[in-house]
Amino acid sequence: MTAEIIDGKKLAESIKEDIKNTIAVRKAQNLPIPGLATVLVGNNPASKTYVANKIKTTAALGIRSYSYELEENTSQESLEMLISELNDNPEVQGILVQLPLPEHLSEDKVLHSISPKKDVDGIHPYNAGLLSRKYSEPLFYPCTPSGIMRMIESVCPDISGMKAAVVGRSSIVGMPTAMMLSRSNATPTICHSYTKDLDEICRESDILVAAAGSPHLIQGDWIKPGAIVIDVGINHIPDSTKPHGYRLVGDVDFDEAVKRAGAISPVPGGVGPMTIAMLMANTLKAIEYR
Ligand code: NDP
Repeated sequence: MTAEIIDGKKLAESIKEDIKNTIAVRKAQNLPIPGLATVLVGNNPASKTYVANKIKTTAALGIRSYSYELEENTSQESLEMLISELNDNPEVQGILVQLPLPEHLSEDKVLHSISPKKDVDGIHPYNAGLLSRKYSEPLFYPCTPSGIMRMIESVCPDISGMKAAVVGRSSIVGMPTAMMLSRSNATPTICHSYTKDLDEICRESDILVAAAGSPHLIQGDWIKPGAIVIDVGINHIPDSTKPHGYRLVGDVDFDEAVKRAGAISPVPGGVGPMTIAMLMANTLKAIEYR
């Protein structure tokens, strides 16, 4: 058996096309169009690439873009002052602070300072809290978990009663993904670096989301035959045949897993493009909260 490939790039393109059309209609009707502010602190090369991609996509969809690049040694006070100004700016509906921040800055305080109504990343504690409450809706669902759920739904619209394993419990990926799986009536097990018998938990799971940041952690024979496998990991491993001297791999041994899974997402071309598409969807949604 060879798994169906869940093409995140293609799925993301169709979501972005819909957003682009909606914005074009809004423009034609003289309705407000959304604005997204991106805040990048310091010189982390990966962060620079992520922010550049987000700005490029924003422009391509007709969303207004406001880009702020701050020095590595920016103080907590001046970063929070900028966020406060953006919170008050009616032209800006979404604020994205690229993580990780330099070590001297408190990510937690920065996230708290963003208005929950402009939290298009969906990771403000207010929105995270609402996500965890059974009968509440967050103002925004977090981008990467939303992308993961859309990918799962693309191959299996009803996951009620299915067993799921989420490897990773971070606030931006693992934990909210487990909550969203539960909200869709699957039964998730949240795994982390202290989890015993991870391979056994994976083997029992109809859905496996790998978000550990550990290259090829999930081996082929850990996959339940026919399972849906979403690989979130982005790992750079040395490869002298590549122009940059490295290549990207996920957390799953794709070549082996593809032989057992029912459906599997690749790296690259899987969750990454979906995260950006969901950010754009959240930015469009943010107009509702103007
Ligand atoms: P974090 O480092 O914040 O979290 C990693 C989690 O994985 C932790 O909960 C950790 O456990 C757990 N973990 C690490 N090693 C193991 C192991 N050997 N066995 C079981 N659990 C383990 O990472 P993020 O959640 O931010 O990101 C995870 C991966 O996803 C990264 O590769 C990142 O680059 C990628 N990513 C991709 C995105 C995309 O759009 N494609 C977006 C965001 C992230 P513990 O809590 O005990 O430390």
